[in-house]
Amino acid sequence: MPAKKKKVKEAVISENDRQCPKCGDVKDKEKGFGFRNLRRSDGIRVAVQPWCRDCRKESARASKLPMKHCKSCEKPLRINLFAKNKKNKDGYSAICKVCKKSNRKKKAAK
Ligand SMILES: [Zn+2]
Ligand SMILES: [Zn+2]
Repeated sequence: MPAKKKKVKEAVISENDRQCPKCGDVKDKEKGFGFRNLRRSDGIRVAVQPWCRDCRKESARASKLPMKHCKSCEKPLRINLFAKNKKNKDGYSAICKVCKKSNRKKKAAK
């Protein structure tokens, strides 16, 4: 039986590539990441974006989402961290996905 562990990508990173710390993909710095200008005391330095274009797009989209308070961990979280639940007024589950998962684990341990 092969282990169910996620395979760790052995990324070969060339000089033009960079691994995104968010999604773990290795992409071309120019096409996959893009550049930004950093203002320094000695002028402007061009640096590669920390996250790839896809992740930046995703986080920009997520930052526009409304917040919801999780009933279990009592943290305000983005609505995309809640499972959809049509029974609820707002269409989302009352507790976040992380809490739901850990609740399930607790039940399974019994
Ligand atoms: Zn990424
Ligand atoms: Zn929670």
